[in-house]
Amino acid sequence: MIQNFDYFQPTKIKFGAGRIAEIGDFVSEYGKKCVLVTVPLFDDFEPIIDKVKLSLNKSGVSFIHFDKVIQNPTTDIITQGTDIANDFGAEVVLGLGGGSSMDSAKAIAVEAMHDGTAWDYLFFKEKQPNYKTLPIITATTTAGTGSQVTQVAVLSNSKEKRKSAIYNSIIFPKVSIVDPELTITVPPHITASTGFDVFTHAFEAYIHKNTSPYVELISLEAIRLVIKNLPMVIKDGKNLQARTEMSWADTLAGLSIANAGVTLPHGIGMAIGGCCSNIMHGEALAAVYPEFIKYTYKSSIRKFATLARLFDQKLENVSDNIAAEKACYLVSKFLNNIDMNRGLEKLGVSVAEITEIAEKSMELPDYTNNPRVANIDEVTELLKNSYKY
Ligand code: NAD
Repeated sequence: MIQNFDYFQPTKIKFGAGRIAEIGDFVSEYGKKCVLVTVPLFDDFEPIIDKVKLSLNKSGVSFIHFDKVIQNPTTDIITQGTDIANDFGAEVVLGLGGGSSMDSAKAIAVEAMHDGTAWDYLFFKEKQPNYKTLPIITATTTAGTGSQVTQVAVLSNSKEKRKSAIYNSIIFPKVSIVDPELTITVPPHITASTGFDVFTHAFEAYIHKNTSPYVELISLEAIRLVIKNLPMVIKDGKNLQARTEMSWADTLAGLSIANAGVTLPHGIGMAIGGCCSNIMHGEALAAVYPEFIKYTYKSSIRKFATLARLFDQKLENVSDNIAAEKACYLVSKFLNNIDMNRGLEKLGVSVAEITEIAEKSMELPDYTNNPRVANIDEVTELLKNSYKY
């Protein structure tokens, strides 16, 4: 029987190659003064920025460009962007880039209209962002985080060495452009890391205790698309058909986490990113995924069997138990294939940091949504087993 469920998605999604040219029209529906939020310019990014600026100009939107976003954006960066937005009198915030730029745009939209800083409005705090939050528009340039369709903004606090998130429906983007042409220039390793993030979102939403028939449907499709297309786009970044399918997978996985959530690996991945800001989100997830599967699969045999069969259709002919047992091997093989099978040591995590990462993993609620709920000793063990590959 189909269980009761809710499904909510307020973001207008504008999907398709070339659609970035329409960005000015979408922004102008929400304001005529915009702060454009991006990473610092580099050669491959300039043509994208030029298209956006042209479109904003055509639509009569004046803008100021805040181009100081960094990977794993910090509260200090958000405050710099907020000051620029407020001095300019921005009425709307446009995040253009990967998750770091889109999340920075969301946090600036909150901080610009509220007392204190964006860090005061994290998901577990009493103060929450309200209707005064500036309207947010995004255009994603990676196929990774799904942030273009989520109510989440991930931030880092370098003093606390902590990564956490604003989680509130007020920060769903009003409009998001998902234009796969913007992802063509993403280099192979970043393509692999962001693409594996898509896989993890979809799978964790699928096994999450708050999943629903709707989420199961779209998350499995996202996983199927990643398995099919990610190796292709790593090999040939210009393959627009495969890039388009990855952008669609990214969006489906984002819709999945917006309506279900993530589980144990994301709690650990956030803690790793908080301690070691140079590690990409997808790299942190890939490092712990094989051990997470080994730890969890027996608590959700049917779903891990379904995952294994998405990799290998021959497993249709064996029992769920046998198929589920193969899931770890098949995901590790996939990680090898996309050159992401790197343990925590290779990513630069020190042995001494493992205890701190384990403790911080338990501060986030994600681990409680895993089919098997880990305690701190088990998380420490999982991290130790993920250290050397
Ligand atoms: P990112 O935004 O940090 O970008 C990674 C790198 O890719 C950067 O160096 C960037 O300059 C480069 N890049 C981006 N687009 C490019 C392009 N078109 N061509 C060439 N280079 C390009 O990476 P990300 O993985 O998209 O985002 C990671 C952040 O998002 C993390 O902070 C993570 O925690 C967060 N996140 C947010 C959500 C959410 O729902 N809000 C979900 C998952 C992760």
